[in-house]
Amino acid sequence: MGVIDFLGSAASGTKSIQKLMDGVYIIPETMIGDCNVYLIVGDDGRISMIDSSNGFTSKSIVDAMNKNGFSIDNLDTIIMTHGHFDHVGGVYKFADMHDFSLVASQGEAPFIESGNSGFICPFMPLKCKPINVDVKLREGDVVDVGNLSLRVVETPGHTSGSICLYDRSLKVLFSGDTVFTEGSFGRYDLQTGSLEQLTNSIKRLSELDVDLLMPGHMSPVRDGSKHIRAALSIISTCI
Ligand SMILES: [Zn+2]
Repeated sequence: MGVIDFLGSAASGTKSIQKLMDGVYIIPETMIGDCNVYLIVGDDGRISMIDSSNGFTSKSIVDAMNKNGFSIDNLDTIIMTHGHFDHVGGVYKFADMHDFSLVASQGEAPFIESGNSGFICPFMPLKCKPINVDVKLREGDVVDVGNLSLRVVETPGHTSGSICLYDRSLKVLFSGDTVFTEGSFGRYDLQTGSLEQLTNSIKRLSELDVDLLMPGHMSPVRDGSKHIRAALSIISTCI
């Protein structure tokens, strides 16, 4: 997609859905302050969403889902990689459309549940509503969604409660804002962030065998371990 097309789709709010593997789809980010949204669809049609975008795009996401044969009525679960607004904002909108179970880490849940605007939305003076987190995850918990069995890896550093989700047999990793592609990684200078913790977290991720890396920003890539190791070598120079 060229720059003009990208800006055009951002202005019109058009979203698309791309299949990444059986039962796993991406709704790519299309604007600044947006994030990648992942759908995991089970054989029974139930949908789990990983991150929810910023709320401004929720209608476009629902339109794209409808166009591709998915219904918001089948939304079963939203799992948060962390509580920043570009990931959690959609939760408020989707909650007005359909009931679902909201899942987040034990560490991040208090910020989401209290609607802590300074944490959730550091760049815009928005008021965030308190919202209940139904399931609170810790290191090593396993979340079965669709055909994926996702193990929780606590990865503090971007925020203190950030998590990644890893399926060992399929070698797939949802990495939120902890690590992106091409050696890039999340900011560590926002509330609860830590360069030292982020470095340690990326080191842990570099020890996993990752083929498909699905980050919160930028495009998913194959040979994910190579990208994570690149990020480790770069962040290690920042310490
Ligand atoms: Zn973030």
